[in-house]
Formats: sequence, structure tokens, C-alpha cells
Amino acid sequence: MSLSDIQNRISKVEAEAGRAAGSVKLIAVSKVQPDARVRAVLEEGHRSFGENRVQEAAGKWPGFREDFDGIDLHIIGPLQSNKVRQAMELAEAIHTVDRPKLAKTIARLAQELGRCPDLFIQVNTGEEEQKAGVMPRDADAFIAECRALDLPIKGLMCIPPVDEAPSLHFALLAKIAARNDLSGLSMGMSGDFEQAIALGATHVRVGSAIFGERVSG
Ligand SMILES: *Cc1c(COP(=O)(O)O)cnc(C)c1O
Repeated sequence: MSLSDIQNRISKVEAEAGRAAGSVKLIAVSKVQPDARVRAVLEEGHRSFGENRVQEAAGKWPGFREDFDGIDLHIIGPLQSNKVRQAMELAEAIHTVDRPKLAKTIARLAQELGRCPDLFIQVNTGEEEQKAGVMPRDADAFIAECRALDLPIKGLMCIPPVDEAPSLHFALLAKIAARNDLSGLSMGMSGDFEQAIALGATHVRVGSAIFGERVSG
């Protein structure tokens, strides 16, 4: 697989699903990939990337930004409160807003910094204990709470359980988004991004299918 293969597959499903061409953003998930692989994808002209860990993102993206214009960085991993400022300074988007305390911290820092990345609320569609995200039954109230804080909520994000059909989770996320008037849907990874697009994904997060298997982590 390569970047252009994935882009072609996205275009094909966009067309099949009656979605506008270019309506799905491909986020190339570069976590734990060697810099040379990431640089190669940048040199192909790609600009949207995803990182799980703020620390790791801080280590590599300021350097890449010196060499490439227009980088669009997405934080897609669980966010600890003490990393929020750094995440907001580094990224164009954060996909993992999942609790009131975090929402309040982001709102306070947005005032202080005078800017705020685009935000997605992570929903734990599989109600898995070990996984981050607001429970589906709490999602409507949490979305309202974030809006009351004036946060720029663009949509919802989910990571389906590994042992279940992802389509049910994508459909649930789309339903929660629709009833809350949210247009962004961050869903779909290497193994299931085509299904996610068919069910309305606007942002797919694809790592190993672009970069190859992760060396570690
Ligand atoms: C690692 C990761 C991805 C990418 O996973 P692949 O299966 O390599 O495409 C997507 N989303 C999140 C939240 C991740 O942590």
C-alpha cells in the first residue's frame, strides 16, 4: 500500500457512496513511524497527519514545519490535562475531548492563547471500560456542555472495539452526530476506512496501510 493507493480507494468509495469528491479528509497516522517514512509522505505533498502522543508530536512536528508549509496536525490519542496546553499549541485539531474537566481546561486555555484547535468529542461507542470517550448515553449532554463553553466542536470520533463489526459503531456515531447537528465524523482506520466513509466519515485516520506496520507501540 502507499499514499496514492489509499487516496484512490477513498475516491472510489466517495463516488460509490454518493459523497462529494474530496469530502473525506485522510489523516495519515504517523505515530511511532521513522522520520524518513513521514518525510517521504510529506514530500509526496500530503499535509494532514495524526499523532497519538503529545510528547511524540512535540518531538517531531516543529521540525517538519520548518521544512514544509501547511501542515495540518491532529491529536488523536487520549489527552491528559497537563498536556492540553502543549497539544493546543501544536495541533490544528484534537479528536479526543472526552470529559468535562478536559473541556473546561481547553476553554480556559483558548481564552489565554487566543485560539483553539478544531475539536472532536470521542464517544466510547462500545462502552469499553479500558477505552476513553464519553458513553453514548451521556453524549448529548456533553456536547451541549462543550457548546455552552463556546468550544469549536466540529464533530465526533470513535474507535470501535477490535472484536466487533465496526459498521454498527460507525452508524451509532453518525446517529449521535446527526441529532446534535454535528457534521464531522472522525472514524475509520486502516482496516475499515471504506466502511466508515460509506457510513458518513469526514475524517479517516489511517496509519499502517500508508506507512507499513509500526516498528513498535
Ligand atoms: C493508531 C491509530 C490509528 C491508525 O491505526 P491503523 O490501524 O494503523 O490505521 C487511528 N486512530 C487512532 C486513534 C489510533 O490510535
